[in-house]
Amino acid sequence: MQARGTSGTTHGMRFLLLALAPFIGSFLGVLIRRLPRGEPVGMDRSRCEACHHTLGPAELIPLLSYAVQRGRCRACGARIGLFHPAIELTATAVAALALMLAAPASPFVYGTVLLGWILLALSWIDFETFLLPDALTLPLLLAGVVEGCVLADGPSLLSRITGRWPDGRC
Ligand SMILES: [Zn+2]
Repeated sequence: MQARGTSGTTHGMRFLLLALAPFIGSFLGVLIRRLPRGEPVGMDRSRCEACHHTLGPAELIPLLSYAVQRGRCRACGARIGLFHPAIELTATAVAALALMLAAPASPFVYGTVLLGWILLALSWIDFETFLLPDALTLPLLLAGVVEGCVLADGPSLLSRITGRWPDGRC
């Protein structure tokens, strides 16, 4: 019974992760648009880029609101770029891929998904602007060091920080 309960919890957490992934993708879209411009993240309500209409809750449901509104602003009818559904779908694909490739009960799968999302935002920003914002690279660096401390196998923490393996190779 214990294993069955644990498995149910694992499936529930994985389903929750996939259900949240489009919302995380929407947030990644905010990071991708605002970080390179030096704009604040999370303090400003989402608005239509054409008429600056503040989006209501029904207009903020990832993928669904885009489909229901047929890719247009509800207030002014301006086309909403494919960027928004694309980043929401890609973030969902990153989560699904990590869940498929990870061992069934691995506790590291959630960290892997988180790192995948950060790398997705970084690669998107890099592709568009040739920038890698410190606001994303520094947490990624810290996460890598923490993973080095938690994982029993693999290179030592010192090797991970210095980039040198004990046998002298880099
Ligand atoms: Zn509008």
